[in-house]
Parts: sequence; structure tokens; C-alpha cells
Amino acid sequence: MQSIDLTGGFPLSDAFARPIRYLRVSVTDKCNLRCVYCMPEGGLPWLRREEILSYEEIARVVEAAASVGVRAIRLTGGEPLLRRNVERLVAMIASLSEIEDIALSTNGLLLDEQIDALASAGLSRVNISLDTLRPQRFESVARRPGLEHVLRSIDAAIARGLHPVKINCVVMRGRNDDEVEDFAQLSRQLPVHVRFIEAMPVVEYAEAQREEFVSADELLDRLRTIGNLQPIDGPVGNGPARYFSFPDAAGTIGVITPLSHDYCDRCNRIRLTADGRLRLCLFGDHHVDLRTLLRAQATREDLAAILRRSMLIKPERHHLRLGEPASRMRALSEIGG
Ligand code: SAM
Ligand code: SF4
Repeated sequence: MQSIDLTGGFPLSDAFARPIRYLRVSVTDKCNLRCVYCMPEGGLPWLRREEILSYEEIARVVEAAASVGVRAIRLTGGEPLLRRNVERLVAMIASLSEIEDIALSTNGLLLDEQIDALASAGLSRVNISLDTLRPQRFESVARRPGLEHVLRSIDAAIARGLHPVKINCVVMRGRNDDEVEDFAQLSRQLPVHVRFIEAMPVVEYAEAQREEFVSADELLDRLRTIGNLQPIDGPVGNGPARYFSFPDAAGTIGVITPLSHDYCDRCNRIRLTADGRLRLCLFGDHHVDLRTLLRAQATREDLAAILRRSMLIKPERHHLRLGEPASRMRALSEIGG
């Protein structure tokens, strides 16, 4: 679908002259895992169905964003594949000619069974979260079983050609940091991009984070002892990772460092929450309620104008600090997910 160019020659950029090209869309707040660093064991006070944007409403926001210069979309959550027929949303986004890249962040539990429908609908690529290669440990980190499904999904994504296939691994001292070398080995054997993420202090995890935090510098030093790790240009994507590889490896290793080396100066992203708030950063609670506008029949031009105005409140940088609790939304808007 070709939409009218509303950029007026000036694609979206914020008050600090950072061009905004990337919209992350949370399609649900719900999840089928309870990763220790992300969600309490008992879950969260979930949104009600009517509070969540419909696919049509999400597509209207994406269309408006595309009309002012957004070119890449990531579907995330919660666990996005818990929502029924996500491929329908993928197809709606894929029909917008300006959108060049549609990625999905998933925990991989349901990807294997949905991958054909998603790829046929126009999904470009996937990021799959995986913090351990050991089944019992998976159950203690994710508080639910499922490692074999995740591994099957990684194989399926490679086989389906959803490249680059990225694996996100949150490194925690005493929980899984002894597997960093095994994950590095995976990047030698498989055409995957293993990205180690520094753990962030999401509410309930903040205290543990202070104890368990492993900086990317520390883990890169460790990996250098097992091979000749060289910095390289990373695969396509819109995230903040820095990449490395071993000679003759099939894949690469990336590090995402929201705490130790923040990358706010390169921030090119905004985020739409499942309940229709446009979040501009984790700093403060800067957001704009788009749901009310959508349900008051705002046009694409209205939405595009709001997107432009919202740039004025996108702050310059985040203020995440080791062990200081950040609200869940704030912290998760920071990472490459
Ligand atoms: N459920 C999907 C998944 O797990 O990939 C998508 C949503 S999840 C919130 C997106 C990413 O955020 C995952 O890679 C997850 O590991 C990461 N994440 C969640 N909480 C985090 C934390 N406290 N620190 C660092 N990364 C975190
Ligand atoms: Fe669910 Fe992803 Fe959070 Fe784990 S990181 S609890 S899979 S949303």
C-alpha cells in the first residue's frame, strides 16, 4: 500500500536531531514465562482486553509513523506470539510500502508452530531470547519449562531463512554466567548472532541485579581467553549492539550495554505499548496516549502531527543506574529486545 508522504522532506527527528526510524510495538503485556529479571512469579495486573489496541489500531499508528519516516518495526511484548493470529498484523504492516523491516522478539516457545504463517505474512527476522542451554536451569531462570521448544524454534528460524537470527541472552552472575563460553561456541557452530545483554534493574529484580550484574567488558575479556575475538560490523538491525566474531565462526557475538556504555546519543526509537501509549524513552514517564485519539477517529494526518509534537518530550538520555529500581516499562524500552 502506498501512503502519502507526510514527511514534507523532514522525516521525524527529536529535539536533539536524532532521526527516529524505528518503532517497537508491544502487542500484549502477557507472557507464558516468568523470567526472574522481568516478571514476578505470580504475573502482573494484566490489561483488560478492551484496553489493548486492536491490530487495526496498531496498523493505523504504524501507517502514520511510516508517513513521517519510520522504516523499521519490531513486534514485542510480553510474549507477542501469545496473541492470536499475529501474522494478520504482520501482513497489515508488510502491506505498507515504506516499511523495510519487520522483526519479532520472542521467547521462542510458540515460534516453531507459527513460523510458516509469520514468514509468509512478511516477517523479516526474529530475535529469540535464551538465557541457558541447560533444561533444569531454564526452569529456574524462566520459572517454566520449555527449553526444547526454544531450541526447535532457533533451528526453524535458521531453516526458514529469517536472517539475521539473533539470540538474546541476559547474563547474570551465579545464575548463567558460567555458560557464556557455551553460548559463544553456539555462535561458532550456527549462523546466529548471540547477543549478551547487561541485566537491568527492573523493579523486583533491582536488588538481585546489584549482585548479579556482569558488565559486557568483563564478559568480552573472558571470551578473549578462548579465541581471537575481533570487532566486526554487525548484521542488519536497528539496535544498539556492538559485534565481534571468532575466525571461521558461522555467527557473531554481540553485546548490549544499557548500563555500562549507554547509547542514548544514537537512539533512533520510540515505542507503542499494548494499551496504546507512545513511549519516548525510559526517562521519566514521558508518553502520549494514542488510544484515546485512535478511538476518537483520529486520521493518519492527526496521528502524524501528534508523533511530530511528541518528539519535543523525548529526553536526551536515560538515567538507569546499577541496582536502582526502574519501572518495567522504562527499563524494557531501553534494550535491543
Ligand atoms: N517475550 C519476548 C522475549 O523474551 O524475547 C519479548 C519481550 S522481552 C521483554 C524482550 C527482551 O527483554 C528479552 O530479550 C529479555 O531477555 C529482555 N529483558 C527483559 N527484562 C530484562 C532485564 N531486566 N534486563 C535485561 N534484559 C531484559
Ligand atoms: Fe516473558 Fe520475555 Fe519477560 Fe521472559 S523476558 S518474562 S519471556 S516477556
